[in-house]
Amino acid sequence: MARTNDSLDMSTTEIAGGCLCGAVRYRLTNIPRVHYCHCDMCRRATGSAFAVLAWISFEHLFWTSGRPKYRRSSPLAERGSCADCGTPLTLAYDANQGELALHVGTLDIPERFEPRYNYGASQRLGWVCCGIDLPDRNTEERW
Ligand SMILES: [Zn+2]
Ligand SMILES: [Zn+2]
Repeated sequence: MARTNDSLDMSTTEIAGGCLCGAVRYRLTNIPRVHYCHCDMCRRATGSAFAVLAWISFEHLFWTSGRPKYRRSSPLAERGSCADCGTPLTLAYDANQGELALHVGTLDIPERFEPRYNYGASQRLGWVCCGIDLPDRNTEERW
């Protein structure tokens, strides 16, 4: 699994993010692994044409204000959002207890975290062209 942004100087950089209203805030102590997800569940859950997910292990994620409200979004996964403003924040698979994905747009400086591959490329909308040259990996979100 390719790590992203390895050149980022962690000693001088804090990675933080949060929801639109600011009730839920988090901090990361490692570089997330970022990719596009074109699956129809991410599309619905974000209300966008695709999701950009930033995976981080639990030990490197700290909630610094509030907590997401979690709900079951499929037989395989839970998603978390801000109970106040509704911002989608997290995705976690039951089978992958060690890490969780944040939606990259909730990071304070998402510019730093460029997606490195595609998930669910077979469900990509025909007019979505960003990331089209990146490698595809099969989605694990089917059941
Ligand atoms: Zn909020
Ligand atoms: Zn997805």
